[in-house]
Amino acid sequence: MKPLNSLSTRLPASAASICANCKRELSLDSFYVNKTTFCPDKYCKECRKSISRRQYCNDKRSLSALSERPSYPVITQIEDRETRMQLILHALQVVRSLLERKKRRMLEEESLL
Ligand SMILES: [Zn+2]
Repeated sequence: MKPLNSLSTRLPASAASICANCKRELSLDSFYVNKTTFCPDKYCKECRKSISRRQYCNDKRSLSALSERPSYPVITQIEDRETRMQLILHALQVVRSLLERKKRRMLEEESLL
């Protein structure tokens, strides 16, 4: 008759895995285990924490860099005079049409009162 603990011997408590980052051989307790594949993480918990913290910082930095960068060209920094004039004129047109629309809406609202 087989011993009842054959199941537990299949996955001994002393099972260890080597962290891909710090190269330390650590017990499986020191690794996060994937809930779906039951595979231990290739990084130990310590390394995983510092890695995710670093990634979070990088994300934050790249996000702020994105928001700081203007999405439109800076008109006064454009070398070509012709293009600059066109852009300025276009910007003026946009502003003017926005003002027109705003004025019209205000007039409409006034007439509604
Ligand atoms: Zn590690």
